[in-house]
Amino acid sequence: MTTYRSWFECIRCGSERYALNEVVYECSSCGGLLEVQHDLDALGERPAEQWRQLFDQRYMGNTWPYGSGVWGKKEMVCPTVDEDNVVSMYEGGSNLFWAERFGSQIGLEDLWIKQCGNSHTGSFKDLGMTVLVSMVKQMRAEGKQIPAIACASTGDTSAALGAYGAAAGIPVIVFLPKDKISLAQLIQPIANGALTLSIRTDFDGCMKLVQELCREEDIYLANSMNSLRIEGQKTVGIEMVQQFDWHVPDWIVIPGGNLGNVSALGKGFLEMQAMGIIDRLPGIVVAQAQRANPLYRSFQNEFETFEPMLAGDTLASAIRIGDPVSYERAVRVIKRFDGVVEQASEHELADACARADRTGLFSCPHTGVALAALLKLIDRGTITSAQKVVVISTAHGLKFPEFKVRYHEDQLRESHEVNPMHSNQPVEVDPDYDQVRSAIFRNLEAVQA
Ligand SMILES: *Cc1c(COP(=O)(O)O)cnc(C)c1O
Ligand SMILES: [Zn+2]
Repeated sequence: MTTYRSWFECIRCGSERYALNEVVYECSSCGGLLEVQHDLDALGERPAEQWRQLFDQRYMGNTWPYGSGVWGKKEMVCPTVDEDNVVSMYEGGSNLFWAERFGSQIGLEDLWIKQCGNSHTGSFKDLGMTVLVSMVKQMRAEGKQIPAIACASTGDTSAALGAYGAAAGIPVIVFLPKDKISLAQLIQPIANGALTLSIRTDFDGCMKLVQELCREEDIYLANSMNSLRIEGQKTVGIEMVQQFDWHVPDWIVIPGGNLGNVSALGKGFLEMQAMGIIDRLPGIVVAQAQRANPLYRSFQNEFETFEPMLAGDTLASAIRIGDPVSYERAVRVIKRFDGVVEQASEHELADACARADRTGLFSCPHTGVALAALLKLIDRGTITSAQKVVVISTAHGLKFPEFKVRYHEDQLRESHEVNPMHSNQPVEVDPDYDQVRSAIFRNLEAVQA
């Protein structure tokens, strides 16, 4: 098998290059973020049809680690990691769900949900973490002093790092904003044995602290400013195109917080295009919660200015970020893909989620933000009925039971101005046939609605 070359390169000045097994997160001359670059000329020498065949042949198979949705594309992702150092939990290969009933309710014939939450730790963060932790395992094997890996998180990055670190036997430290993540998210790194710091601040505050720690000590930083994660996350776009027999959808709607994931999505498409695997690009919609919408505000003035903000208390807690690390990367992607940024209020995101759940989904609030943005773009005529649309569902709904319970119990009115249009309640009844029967027939109509 050919080994392809790849390296870190500054996204701003392009003048500095570093090896992927160097501990480096930003450009030493201009301070810009780094990006993994691949030798696209060498990759492009193999005909596109052969790449498609190779990826299809590996997809969800049992040849370790190539059955993983990420490692099945190893040549495009991280060719320099040895197979022996790959730390994989069979990430990727997530369901691309045809939302037939929800689509027809909202006037779309061809709506799909990419269920990235159907994954080992319940979110797309697994896609990136497998690459980062594998590289750390390799660096440790080469004798580099890396005593631990650390991250700041809104709950899902820490879950992924906890699991992959534990699987590799590498110590993990997570920085979490106290009382701002779900209980399910909190218990994940705890169960995996991570040193879990609950810090009395928000995500942006945690981010500053972990950056300082990783600058001062040998501890490796696992936030998405570390572009190894982007390489794994970009496979979401490659995999969805593969699932459509290598056809490109018209639109992709993705919720954005720190903006690493939309950057990754765009990078995957541009590289597929450079290799001749696809011949056109989709439109991209980034969806933000109105209470944490710095990208949306910047989009309103065509990215002339950018102002970090204090992110407010949104139900979409994993995207409660006021100063996104990957702002610059994301703006490039949005410009290149004729992208749109839309926002959703608390009521809109919660209700869109509940409405979609009624058609068989069980979406997290961030997916709700994407669904609400989709509804607005259909209303506005930007997205039309015959177009093929994919909504990226970023986490599993089961990670956010408090959100669902509070919605259905109508407890989000004061804090979040949610007026639940689709709430459903359990009917409590004594163990008596007549009572059960009357409870059923009294309520059947509401269930059918
Ligand atoms: C991390 C995360 C996001 C946002 O991704 P960014 O790369 O930070 O923009 C969205 N939804 C969920 C569930 C997440 O965990
Ligand atoms: Zn630079």
